[in-house]
Amino acid sequence: MDRIRIRPAAFTAAAGRLATLLLPHQCVLCRQFADTTGLCATCWDGLTPIAAPLCARCGLPLGHTLADPLCAGCWTKPPPLAAIRACFHYADSARELILHYKHGDGLQLTPLLARLGARLFIELGSPETLVIPVPLHRRRYFRRRYNQAAEWARHLCRYTAQGVFAPDMLTRRRATRSQGGLSRHQRKRNIAGAFAVPPPTIPRLEGRPVLMIDDVLTTGATLHEAARRLTAAGSGPVSALVLARVTRPSHA
Ligand SMILES: [Zn+2]
Ligand SMILES: [Zn+2]
Repeated sequence: MDRIRIRPAAFTAAAGRLATLLLPHQCVLCRQFADTTGLCATCWDGLTPIAAPLCARCGLPLGHTLADPLCAGCWTKPPPLAAIRACFHYADSARELILHYKHGDGLQLTPLLARLGARLFIELGSPETLVIPVPLHRRRYFRRRYNQAAEWARHLCRYTAQGVFAPDMLTRRRATRSQGGLSRHQRKRNIAGAFAVPPPTIPRLEGRPVLMIDDVLTTGATLHEAARRLTAAGSGPVSALVLARVTRPSHA
């Protein structure tokens, strides 16, 4: 009897595969016809990858190529991260993609985003790297029902079979107002002291390289604050991967 029983999960997966074969693909952003990537040609063209030459440290696009390229900010005041890389400029399709992912019913986008981020994720990490998404405060988490950075991080680990997904190693201990509309200085003040490393996780953090994951980088204030907290708790070098960055210097 067991052999002919259809398990619900298997049935759902099979139905999904069948629908993929039979139904035309729709662009997740504009609902036009799309190929199997989930985006139509127009929206795909609207994604602008961040291309070399880059600052070796903070990943800022540079107007020149040098043997050891660093932007002016990293020469004068190195950030508390070993490397920051972003997939796209925060403009056009990337902005829509992230807003959709964050505020819409966007979780269906996670596999596509994992494919888009895989190359940089592999370059920045290693099998033993702790992959830590920037946490939401629990009030925002309950309102949104998911942390988009954590979903992306989890899928990146699974898709690349690299890294150790460790969302419990950093918590947001106080709710901060949204960083949108704040100046660089206000952002830094707003986020100061917002993160904590729970004491029981510290032995697992000791000396390990960390790759932090977030959706958008604006001034870098959030990543810098989180990286300082992790390093102070004893982590190894901290790097970060974001989906998109506002292309101006990231030094807070
Ligand atoms: Zn489209
Ligand atoms: Zn730099």
